[in-house]
Amino acid sequence: MHSDVIQRFYFSGQPVRGAIVKLQNSYIESLNGHDYPPIVNALLGECLASTLLMGLNLKHQARLSLQARGNGVIHLLMGEAQLKINPGELNQHSIRAVARLKDPYDASAEASLTLDELIGQGHLAITIEPEEGERYQGIVEAKAASLSACLENYFQQSEQLPTTIQLITSPTMAAGLLIQRMPTEESKISANEAQTDNLWEEVNTLAATVSNNELLALDSETLIFRLFHEHVVTLSPPEKVCFDCSCSEERTGQALLKIGVKEVSALLKLDSEVVMDCEFCSARYRFTQSKLQQLGMKFN
Ligand SMILES: [Zn+2]
Repeated sequence: MHSDVIQRFYFSGQPVRGAIVKLQNSYIESLNGHDYPPIVNALLGECLASTLLMGLNLKHQARLSLQARGNGVIHLLMGEAQLKINPGELNQHSIRAVARLKDPYDASAEASLTLDELIGQGHLAITIEPEEGERYQGIVEAKAASLSACLENYFQQSEQLPTTIQLITSPTMAAGLLIQRMPTEESKISANEAQTDNLWEEVNTLAATVSNNELLALDSETLIFRLFHEHVVTLSPPEKVCFDCSCSEERTGQALLKIGVKEVSALLKLDSEVVMDCEFCSARYRFTQSKLQQLGMKFN
């Protein structure tokens, strides 16, 4: 059994689908090198699980990110997934995360705060950048006690898709369960509306009985059986998830070129090289003047 997986499932002949995600190593590696308070680690775990769950409807490769920004003790909370979706192959995805906090920050004092209390006045942005096609961004107010409630609002407001999301983390694991009612036209399933209403209600009642421990500990197959054994549910093969940062010396150098020669020259007067740290994975990149010249920066 893989420890880092997302698995989709479908209710046979009904426009109701869902997914279960479990992250262990990829979650821990995403937090490595950071020293966030436990509550921030937990929220980042929820963010990462959500980015994967939100990709449920995508048919092609894309980068999907969730960003909560505000004026509270947490300025930024971000989870990002590179969704590698290849028809006919087993999908594989990679994730990374970052948070920015207001300083100084007393973690112990904030342990019981809700999402909106931590983010303050702010919003949650869902961005999808397909490898081919147009970038999409949806925004909702970060005005809910939890990330799952915020995302449920997003699906209701922006997509008109009834969706329920459960998210849970432990210090070593993040897990999530999403259930969604598809629009009848899109699902290509000629289901009876009243019948679907009943199923949707029943599935939600059943899903609400899952405990945090069960969501963390049970594998998808056992969990689906435990919840929905009276229904015919098709479980897709597990798709692997790993931690991977897409930063590189080349991309970091390109970012410096955008900053401009004036600012970079000022930095080079202070030191013999410009040092850039990746906010996601803490990788360090060093650029001397000659290296920057090689990249195309023109010094006077
Ligand atoms: Zn990086």
